[in-house]
Amino acid sequence: MSILVFIEISEGEIKKSSLEAVSYAAGIGGEVTAIAFGEASQEALAAAGKAGANKVLHVADEKYKQGNIQAYASALAAAVDTTGAETIVLAKSSLGDPVSARLAIKIGASLASNVTELPDTSNGFTVKRSIYTGKAFANVDLTEGKRIIGIKKNAAIIKEDGADAAVEAFAVNAEDADFKVKVTSQEKATGEILLPEADLVVSGGRGLKGPENWGMIEDLAKTLGAATGCSKPVSDMDWRPHHEHVGQTGIKVAPSLYIAVGISGAIQHLAGVNSSKYIVVINKDPEAPFFKAADYGIVGDAFEVVPKLTEAIKAL
Ligand code: FAD
Repeated sequence: MSILVFIEISEGEIKKSSLEAVSYAAGIGGEVTAIAFGEASQEALAAAGKAGANKVLHVADEKYKQGNIQAYASALAAAVDTTGAETIVLAKSSLGDPVSARLAIKIGASLASNVTELPDTSNGFTVKRSIYTGKAFANVDLTEGKRIIGIKKNAAIIKEDGADAAVEAFAVNAEDADFKVKVTSQEKATGEILLPEADLVVSGGRGLKGPENWGMIEDLAKTLGAATGCSKPVSDMDWRPHHEHVGQTGIKVAPSLYIAVGISGAIQHLAGVNSSKYIVVINKDPEAPFFKAADYGIVGDAFEVVPKLTEAIKAL
């Protein structure tokens, strides 16, 4: 089986979620070809081999430097033709989602996003996907024709035992119609770690009593190299900026570690964090619902626990 994986590059490196997609593809079995766009060194791209790719196609054309969804979908369709891929794998993300939808239409493929497990191929090709913000699962049959699979963040373990992959330039016959939307420039709004991409998040809730107490959250986050988040009421009250609001109506995060401080764990908050690999909850109320979703919990006063935790981490 030939599998094509769309890998996303950030600051010259393959994103963690894309390495997960590569390892997922390798787990299916077959010839895994990855495709990447924009600026990245040969060395950075070859690293996809460690995660399980046999080959990496690199579209270095300037036009593909900045995330143009139409252009990516067209180039992926060309790569599907070249590789003869029946299965296309990518990470579910703000870029992966629209690219996969356009690609599905272009190549007439079936599409399942938010997939959490390797397919069951015993009787066709069935994948399990997370639905209703993680509260239920659906098994989806993708046996017929080409298929696109969007992997939920943290759903696959990144392999590290492969050899470097061969990197080949991939030229796409770019059509002007694919560049109707032109990204003229991109800039980060702040120098902070971006919450949707963060691998570590420290988040605070109403239990912190007021904006003046966020110093200890920032201190813990800085010590860990984490992004900061918050619950909805906290941003509604302007204790924290709205771009930090995590949950069903805010940012959905998928870090390796989510530390929730003084957050009760309402269902709307959990909807934004339930893709996290590990959740640590610090709350003074042992009955707080968040403890049911936590991997580790500390029952205690945040004002005592957080500074001690930060000091202990600094001392490591
Ligand atoms: P609280 O519920 O007030 O909880 C504070 C917690 O802090 C308590 O558990 C308390 O025990 C603990 N605490 C108090 N003092 C301390 C201390 N000294 N040390 C340690 N712990 C302490 N919420 C979101 O977060 N994100 C969303 O996207 C979102 N979307 C919503 C959409 C809709 C349509 C609706 C109706 C609600 C939504 N909400 C959302 C709100 C949600 O229902 C909760 O009201 C909210 O998450 C509660 O925020 P909180 O946990 O910070 O505050």
